[in-house]
Amino acid sequence: MNIESYKIQLGQLPVLVRRRPIKNLHLAILPPDGLIRVSAPVHMSDEAIRMLLAMRIPWINKQRAKFQGQTRQAPRKYVSGESHYFWGQRYILEVVNDNKPMSVSLKGKKKIILQVPAKSTIKKRDEVMSEWYREELRQEADKLIKKWEPKIGVTVRQFGIKKMKTRWGTCNHKAGRVWLNLELAKKPVDFTEYVVVHELLHLIEKNHSERFVKLLSNYLPKWRSLKAELNRFILSHEEWRNI
Ligand SMILES: [Zn+2]
Repeated sequence: MNIESYKIQLGQLPVLVRRRPIKNLHLAILPPDGLIRVSAPVHMSDEAIRMLLAMRIPWINKQRAKFQGQTRQAPRKYVSGESHYFWGQRYILEVVNDNKPMSVSLKGKKKIILQVPAKSTIKKRDEVMSEWYREELRQEADKLIKKWEPKIGVTVRQFGIKKMKTRWGTCNHKAGRVWLNLELAKKPVDFTEYVVVHELLHLIEKNHSERFVKLLSNYLPKWRSLKAELNRFILSHEEWRNI
């Protein structure tokens, strides 16, 4: 997807502007540094955008402060002793170097065994781990989709998992396709269930309308706390902002 964007200044702060065929301004604060991104109607002037943003400065500052206070995970090196999360549990990585095929497995309740050649790069190790997370999430999501499809009365034609920076899930309403964020495999499975239910509901209700919220509250009464927790990690995306 190629959307034209450019930068304007809001005082000291750069703001990324993209033009969209929409009626209202959508504001998003993006990780990891709290970049301000605005999606604006095609005909709105930069001056009008600046004025609208100026009114939201307290909110913008609050959101950006959250990012700055958020503890960031140190870059992973994939060496023995490192902590890695899987379905909300902390595991200690044990790297095994031998000539067997590369793989990842769990050993008891505390260890993740990563089997790779001694000379494998961090990038390679990251790939092997990502593939493992992807497969685990795929299996769990498959179960959850099968559980929720008949309850909601929808059919997912295709679903996939990818690395996404600003969304936990997306849904292509027309194609019946759902994407989930790979990071979900690191959090308790309730969060994956919330994202699955949320995206499946979009197959019958495109927007975060009153009906959408009503259905969501019916199916998952605890959704608000799950959403709040997820938003601590990916903040303030327009897709998740309205409800
Ligand atoms: Zn949504």
